[in-house]
Amino acid sequence: MGIKVAKFGGSSLASAEQFKKVKNILLMDPDRRYVVPSAPGKRFKEDEKVTDLLYKCYQAAEAGERVTPIFEKIYTRYMDIVKELGVDIDMETLLKQTESEIIRVCTPDFAASRGEYLNGMLLAAYLGWDFIDPRECIKFDRQGVFASEWTNEILSEKLKKHEYAVIPGFYGSFPNGEVRTFSRGGSDISGAIVARAANADLYENWTDVSGFLMADPRIVENPREIRELTYKELRELSYMGATVLHEDSIFPVHKAGIPTNIKNTNDPAHPGTMILSKPSEENAGSTITGIAGHKNFTLISIEKAMMNAELGFGRRVLQALEDFDVSFEHLPTGIDTMSVIIADSELKTRKNEIVKRIHELCHPDSIDVTEGIALIATVGHGMVRNPGTAARLFGALSEAKVNVLMIDQGSSELNIIVGVDQNDFDKAVSAIYNAFN
Ligand code: ASP
Repeated sequence: MGIKVAKFGGSSLASAEQFKKVKNILLMDPDRRYVVPSAPGKRFKEDEKVTDLLYKCYQAAEAGERVTPIFEKIYTRYMDIVKELGVDIDMETLLKQTESEIIRVCTPDFAASRGEYLNGMLLAAYLGWDFIDPRECIKFDRQGVFASEWTNEILSEKLKKHEYAVIPGFYGSFPNGEVRTFSRGGSDISGAIVARAANADLYENWTDVSGFLMADPRIVENPREIRELTYKELRELSYMGATVLHEDSIFPVHKAGIPTNIKNTNDPAHPGTMILSKPSEENAGSTITGIAGHKNFTLISIEKAMMNAELGFGRRVLQALEDFDVSFEHLPTGIDTMSVIIADSELKTRKNEIVKRIHELCHPDSIDVTEGIALIATVGHGMVRNPGTAARLFGALSEAKVNVLMIDQGSSELNIIVGVDQNDFDKAVSAIYNAFN
């Protein structure tokens, strides 16, 4: 018998009906021993997530305003689930205590964490499983950085004492026990941490989609599903905008060599996407795995004759960015040219000052600034081994009359990144997708 850790996202636990599906899924396989729930998410498009309501409760408490009008909505959400499922739990008292605690403690992390806490208590009672409070066993250091090894030690000991347990996602605590949350969507990370500590054979991440798609369905009609990808490919795709899983959730499971299976609570028979450390034999031959991209980048191109012979030139360009606390995405270079690609969210209004600083530090012949760039990453472990991949990709872009402004293959050899005018973004993504399908 193996161990599976199952994390359920907010939409999987948004209503009594969804709770029933979750119970069925868990009872279908006795290996599913540890479950990590999110807070109730949206039931329909205009609905509010419990976590968002809890942040509003905190803001009201902080401003000395009444919390109850907002908390009432949370109260109703949980009570509706409890009543419809007939769970034996004194949810009313628990909710009342929680409301006063939110006001008393008055930190955003504590308030937000209560969504997972309450859902965890409710789910544990519904399943008849033990409840483990992550406040005791998911630890952050005093600066608020997740303490992975410390956590792994305490949590693995704790799990050994519980055959079946519910461990709420999204939060843990500082060394002094004060609640600390991960960033938004962080229950994915908690699930991966529990999977590592349980020495699980599989981490199942249950959501409302059947895994990753090869491209954004808003751009490409009916893109193919990705059945399998590696953690490295996932990292590249998530970094470039694919958003099924929180990107930090990769680390604990990848490190421990535990595969992650993205599954759909509303279609449990679907195989979903399997994420592995290394490609399986059946998949070793595939060329590209997925395409992802982002708009809103700026390209700063610096030209200087004999740049290649000038020691420290690159360092000085990067110094100019560091002076303004700006980090860069890519750094394609030529013999006499060097370009930096910066996300507009990083650059903000500092473009002119940075250009001025590069002039002062590097005395280039010219600096060219191009705004409105989109970056597109074509990702696949098979790209290096399959000759002609680049030709296919660039051929497709040229046929679609997309002008390529920048190319970067990075050193991972997993990835070809192109920079295009952001008005050509959709056309470029479709052209690349069609070239490989
Ligand atoms: N409930 C938290 C959020 O909405 C964490 C999560 O769902 O993963 O961000």
